[in-house]
Amino acid sequence: MQLHASVAKLNRVGKALEKRLKRLGVETVQDLLFYFPFRYEDYSKLRNIKDLQDGEQVTIKGKIELIANKRSPRKRTMITEAVVADETEQIKVIWFGQPFIAKTLKQGDSVYLSGKVSSDMFGMQMVGPAYEKDTSSDTTHTARIVPMYSLTSGITQKQLRFLMSQIIDLADKLEDWLPEDIKEKADVMNLGEAVRSIHFPESDDELQHALRRLKFDELYILQLRGELLRQSIKSSKASQIKFKEDEIKKFVKKLPFELTKKQKISSWEILQDMEKPEPMNRLLEGDVGSGKTVVAAMAMYNAVLNGKQAVIMAPTEVLAFQHYESLCGLFEDLGVQVGILTRSKAQASQKSKVIPVGHQYPLKSQKFTKLKLIEVIGEGKVQVIVGTHALLTDKVEFKNLGLVIVDEQHRFGVEQRKTIRKKSGNDSTAPHFLSMTATPIPRSFALTLYGDLDLSIIDEMPADRKPVKTRLVDPHNREKAYGFIKSQVKQGRQVFVVCPLIELTDNDGSTIGSDKKTVLDEYEKLSKQIFPDLKIGFLHGKLPARGGSALGGKSSKEEVMRLFKSGETDILVSTSVIEVGVDIPNASVMMIEGAERFGLAQLHQFRGRVGRAGHQSYCFLFTDSNTNKVKERLNFFEKENSGFKVAEYDLEQRGPGEVYGFAQSGMKNLKLATLQDKGLIKLARDMARDIDFGKYKSLKNRVEEWESGVHLE
Ligand code: ADP
Ligand code: MG
Repeated sequence: MQLHASVAKLNRVGKALEKRLKRLGVETVQDLLFYFPFRYEDYSKLRNIKDLQDGEQVTIKGKIELIANKRSPRKRTMITEAVVADETEQIKVIWFGQPFIAKTLKQGDSVYLSGKVSSDMFGMQMVGPAYEKDTSSDTTHTARIVPMYSLTSGITQKQLRFLMSQIIDLADKLEDWLPEDIKEKADVMNLGEAVRSIHFPESDDELQHALRRLKFDELYILQLRGELLRQSIKSSKASQIKFKEDEIKKFVKKLPFELTKKQKISSWEILQDMEKPEPMNRLLEGDVGSGKTVVAAMAMYNAVLNGKQAVIMAPTEVLAFQHYESLCGLFEDLGVQVGILTRSKAQASQKSKVIPVGHQYPLKSQKFTKLKLIEVIGEGKVQVIVGTHALLTDKVEFKNLGLVIVDEQHRFGVEQRKTIRKKSGNDSTAPHFLSMTATPIPRSFALTLYGDLDLSIIDEMPADRKPVKTRLVDPHNREKAYGFIKSQVKQGRQVFVVCPLIELTDNDGSTIGSDKKTVLDEYEKLSKQIFPDLKIGFLHGKLPARGGSALGGKSSKEEVMRLFKSGETDILVSTSVIEVGVDIPNASVMMIEGAERFGLAQLHQFRGRVGRAGHQSYCFLFTDSNTNKVKERLNFFEKENSGFKVAEYDLEQRGPGEVYGFAQSGMKNLKLATLQDKGLIKLARDMARDIDFGKYKSLKNRVEEWESGVHLE
């Protein structure tokens, strides 16, 4: 058997099981080896039956003296009853609804049983213990520290352990990517050994060593990646961009508001970086609405004052246009030419919409051909260029690009930097780089993930902002909430209703996501029963992106959003697609169904969709769940308005993958390590710092290999 062999090759893996394993992300034997347990039960110490106490978790070994099935008197389930004895005593054992056990285990068999002991008037018994016949010298399911895997429906712990025991010896074939001297310095065990031990630890001590090695791997690769980027940046030169203090002060004075303290600090840090002879490599984090745009604008203006061009890239066209409009406003009368370059609808016919503004091109809505704009950009006549990330694939060549800003991307990759540099119009220097994100990533965590980046954090809101009032609504107050929504609409406001993605299970046990169904159901309910006199629209992932008309019935996302933005619809029922970047200042209520199904960070993003203008805004949370844990989480969210606090809480409770989504490159890597592993994080950082990638080529290769894997996802 090879590591890359399909799991289908394993004993007792049929089509159905193969499919289920795939749902866990397990397709090959190697995947399976890296499917780690999430907890363990310690059955490692065999006990004498006579010493057992009520309530204990134990493993015993004994002979089956008697075993038989019978029907339970009231319920129609089968009961399997057995008597098991060791040298010291007998105990009664019961299983419910598993009559096949009486076929598997026979009188006279020697068995291990692991489970909880309980006592009633007839003495001690074990109900539903894990069992294993004592056939070999080695036991898989019992009599040791037993791994517990997180499972999908249709797979049992026992099945998974059985599969694992078939392949565990292949762990020795895993190639260990860490060089010997690094392992020694970090004091970690071999990879194969660690993988074996994490599945079948012989002792707690061994388990701890295995965990240490595997966590170190996760953290070290992230740090190495950061270090690789850091070194490549440090080795390149940037042109120094002077802080034009007088002009910047004038710019700030002219703003219709006072900058917040954090905006000032962030701007200062950025302007300082730009003065240095090495490229800035900074991440600006700030909640939605915290005012990142004006900070970015200041940096761009400063670049322009130094005779440089600046570029800002957004993930979507809608966001690019929002930036474009804000920047046109901010740079009005400053003699800065702004242009926007996107692939908009018109581009399907190979034409781009191009709208430069400013002194030389006074008509705000003047349309240029794409070629014309590219030409004037190349001549340096347009100094600030707004676009989507696709900008980099276009034939754009800058005259003298000094600053590159990306919105909603956490960092620039090596390749991206190279492309930009080639286009910058300057071979000897690289532009300065600034990333911006509204995803609040606490500083400690950002250091783990983005060790190479400098951080600026805007964790305060402008003073004039009214915090969104958040309420967890009791089911019996639902009508009241609807009444309130009605009154808000009467006052001219608009409302978002967000539905969760409900995972429906297909006949064969596979899950089918259905955001469409939940949205349509909710839309039906609201438009027919609750608000028959209001205009309601809906949005889900299956709608086409563009085209269609509201009247034709076959609507598109674009059309639905246009109607909502223009105020023609009052209520928008939607899935989480509204999460990113929609700006509807008139919306004042965000109502969230099935709130327990969302992470707090995600709820916070939803909440950020309202309260963007002067209106007092509200966020209503509904949940069908009654568990304390859910209540506790949602109550915390009710009281906390800071995205950073919410993210920290969420990180502690659920871990980074859940909070930020696995798609976020790097997050997926942290399966075992957590923010609590402070010592290991520091060790990984220290050992990555200033490492000589020339000497450790294998580490460099590994990072690149890992990086390409991340990008493929
Ligand atoms: P984001 O950080 O989400 O990109 P924006 O930059 O879009 O936030 O800012 C949101 C709104 O707040 C804009 O209308 C902007 O003009 C305004 N704004 C920015 N800074 C301040 C401030 N210090 N005081 C008041 N309003 C501000
Ligand atoms: Mg923004």
